[in-house]
Amino acid sequence: MANVCLYVFILHAVGDAVAEILFGRKKKSEIYAKKRRMRAYEQQKKRRAQAVRLRVATPRRSPSAAKFFLLFYGAFGGIMGNGILVKKLRSVVMYITSLFEKNKTVFSFEVFPPKKSSPIESVYGKLEEICALKPDFISVTYGAGGTGGHSRTCEIASKIKNDLGVESVAHLTCVNSAREDIDATLEDFRAHNIQNILALRGDYIQGVEPKRDFRYASELCAYITQKGGFDVAGACYPETHLEAKDEVEDILNLRKKVDAGASHLISQLFFDNKVFYRFLERTRIAGIHVPIEAGIMPVTNKSQIERMVSLCGAGLPAKFSKVMQRYEHKPEALRDAGIAYAVEQIVDLIANGVDGIHLYTMNNPLVARRITEAVSSLL
Ligand SMILES: Cc1cc2nc3c(=O)[nH]c(=O)nc-3n(C[C@H](O)[C@H](O)[C@H](O)COP(=O)(O)OP(=O)(O)OC[C@H]3O[C@@H](n4cnc5c(N)ncnc54)[C@H](O)[C@@H]3O)c2cc1C
Repeated sequence: MANVCLYVFILHAVGDAVAEILFGRKKKSEIYAKKRRMRAYEQQKKRRAQAVRLRVATPRRSPSAAKFFLLFYGAFGGIMGNGILVKKLRSVVMYITSLFEKNKTVFSFEVFPPKKSSPIESVYGKLEEICALKPDFISVTYGAGGTGGHSRTCEIASKIKNDLGVESVAHLTCVNSAREDIDATLEDFRAHNIQNILALRGDYIQGVEPKRDFRYASELCAYITQKGGFDVAGACYPETHLEAKDEVEDILNLRKKVDAGASHLISQLFFDNKVFYRFLERTRIAGIHVPIEAGIMPVTNKSQIERMVSLCGAGLPAKFSKVMQRYEHKPEALRDAGIAYAVEQIVDLIANGVDGIHLYTMNNPLVARRITEAVSSLL
């Protein structure tokens, strides 16, 4: 009995000691937490009081003065046409990819700079007419030569964006350029407020040793994406690129370009919509889900068809060939037939829900205008 009493006594004493340690500590930590809360509250009160003092001490610009300032600034900017505000507004980042998020078919044009032998101003009149049609953007081709070829592309892209108010995309090829040339070109684009680039490999030039810094467009896409500050697009080929072993290999390579950062694709020209729909299906199977614009070239003369077919291997459907043969000796009729054919292609593409139409204008304002008028209400 005495033993039982001893055990009970010991257990009680141990329990008391444990309770003292636990609850005593808890109490202490509660006291510290409360102190911390009080300190934080005091600091907050001080900050609030300081903010009130600052607000009282800073005279607020009256709303009428602010309005007057904005009116004056706006009017001055408008009169000068090139005011700081206007420039600031124009320099707002505009990535082409965002156009595809709006619920409409993107409608864009392609133009090319004049040959080096002609003054750059020789295309300004045509550009003004083309820009007046207000496409979603205009892309500007890049001379195949690489080094030094960028300046005219940059000038024209800058003119379109900064003076004529249409978003522009500068093409940039890499196979004949060293990394330093690409860096210099990117800097030039940046300095001219150009934010969208179509990254291309470009073609090899006979007798010219290609530079080895970039072998494929995907490497250029990755390089520009990693540098940042540009939206990068890529090219694609509904009838397979001429150098590719087969269609599957070409589409798998296209997937590499998209994985490397191409945010949308522009297709090579084609004359048979069925070929394009089949290509779209295959790209989706390959896991390519970026927007793809359909490249449409209105054929307006016979030599143009021959050149295009030999350059890019586009197939000519029987319907197209018949029309072209019938009017080959009547230039005006051939032009009208070419426009009608392109319009028919575009209407069908829009009806089938394509992401966008990229019109190869060949710097021809009349053709661009007639096609725009025919399809603008459908976009
Ligand atoms: C919309 C559009 C605009 C164009 N604009 C211009 C222009 O302004 N200036 C100009 O000079 N040319 C221009 N071109 C032509 C283009 O430069 C040529 O078609 C060129 O031959 C390929 O360029 P790419 O960027 O498609 O090359 P890539 O995508 O590099 O493909 C070229 C070939 O390499 C293969 N390939 C790609 N990646 C790999 C890889 N990782 N491994 C193995 N094989 C690979 C592809 O299957 C393809 O056969 C344009 C073409 C299009 C469709």
